[in-house]
Amino acid sequence: MTFAKILQSQRVYFESGITRDLEFRKAQLRHLKSLLKENEALLLSAIHNDFHKSGFDTYVTELGLLYRDIDECTTHLNQWAKTRKVKTDMANQPGKSYILAEPLGNCLVIGTWNYPFQLSLAPVIAAMAAGNTVVLKPSELAKNCSSALARLVNENFPPEYLFVAEGGVPETNAILEERFDKIFFTGSTTVGRIVYQAAARHLTPVTLELGGKNPVIVSGNCNLKDAAKRVVWAKFLNAGQTCVAPDHVFVEESVYQEFLTQCTYWIQTFDYNLANNNYVQIINDHHFQRIQELTLPEKVYCGGIFDVEQRTISPTILTDVAESSPIMQEEIFGPVLPVFSYSNLDTVIRQIRNRPKPLAAYLFTKNMEEKNRLLRQLSFGGGAINETIMHLTSTQLPFGGVGLSGFGSYHGEAGFATFSHYKSILERLLPWEPSLRYPPNTEKKLKWVKRFLK
Ligand code: NAD
Repeated sequence: MTFAKILQSQRVYFESGITRDLEFRKAQLRHLKSLLKENEALLLSAIHNDFHKSGFDTYVTELGLLYRDIDECTTHLNQWAKTRKVKTDMANQPGKSYILAEPLGNCLVIGTWNYPFQLSLAPVIAAMAAGNTVVLKPSELAKNCSSALARLVNENFPPEYLFVAEGGVPETNAILEERFDKIFFTGSTTVGRIVYQAAARHLTPVTLELGGKNPVIVSGNCNLKDAAKRVVWAKFLNAGQTCVAPDHVFVEESVYQEFLTQCTYWIQTFDYNLANNNYVQIINDHHFQRIQELTLPEKVYCGGIFDVEQRTISPTILTDVAESSPIMQEEIFGPVLPVFSYSNLDTVIRQIRNRPKPLAAYLFTKNMEEKNRLLRQLSFGGGAINETIMHLTSTQLPFGGVGLSGFGSYHGEAGFATFSHYKSILERLLPWEPSLRYPPNTEKKLKWVKRFLK
């Protein structure tokens, strides 16, 4: 079947109304969960073949989160989909008002490669929970993961409901020619623009989950050991190829040297070893070269080993980096961490505010005033205080960017909302009504109107 035919079949399927049934949605989600569970070995080997990610990391950062997402949806779906009653204002009495959540229709999810299962399927799960049909286009860069997803879904779901369309740029552009009712894109800001423009042709609503340069601020009065441990873990997880990973760190000068020492301690303790078969690779030669070019050897404080053949890079910390250097002009998206010292928090805030709004920001401090200042003065997608990246794992916290790091959000109920339309209804309860709004428009009526609308 051609792609156009598949999409046509999804339209007919959606129009049949079958996906609106809540029990149908839950059954499909449970079906997806059992498929993932039954095929864990296939998924683990695909991701290992693509970039050597370990079974532990894949479970913790991908499959485990998907199982949790599915359970969250099946448990709370009735509540999320429930008609919401709201107050009816005077002008509309006697009446009642309520909001109905309805599925948007035929959705397109475009995934990226760095967490190829989680970032492709988490939006798909939200779209299914909201009662839509879905076409998923995973990233071609993690090619084994893309074909594993295609096999798993296309052999076990009817294409008129859920379909994985594989391919690279030309295929994605061809898909984007079609009209969808919603497009959910995860990837770079550059491609986000292309997707947004394509969606505009059909006035299709879009969610863009993009990237950015996520700053960390380490204040002199925090628990330094914990700060270093959490920064090192979040930065070097998945070889730095994480959208919410710390991009660079500002450390108060009184604790700067100690922070660097603590970071090297944790890098050694976590035993990141390039010779290890599970040491995560950079996804392709292009990204490997890009990161290598950004890393000036004279700025390397620790690490700096680049294994071209294996496409691996040791955890690397840079110091004395100029704010104007190329590594500070783009998202690093690799295991290289510039660390700056600061003496004045206001200067750091200004520096961060001078850049596009990041997807995440992190602050380590015990000082309430510093915390409040940062939360008030900095705009970013989401983040954490005395923690890194873990906000992403909460189903209660909508996840998404702001400005150049994207717009819209998902996770938990926010995901359901992203793929739903909230239809507002006013229902008249009695045949009579005040005649104020109908002509003739007399002075007396206006007086009455002014009592309510003053
Ligand atoms: P990318 O933007 O190049 O690719 C993402 C998707 O877009 C892929 O499916 C790809 O096939 C498609 N694509 C690529 N070029 C295209 C084009 N010219 N026209 C149409 N489609 C095209 O993604 P990337 O740069 O490889 O991924 C890394 C970026 O994604 C980073 O910026 C990272 O921060 C961001 N990211 C964001 C999140 C988030 O949740 N906000 C998560 C992961 C990654």
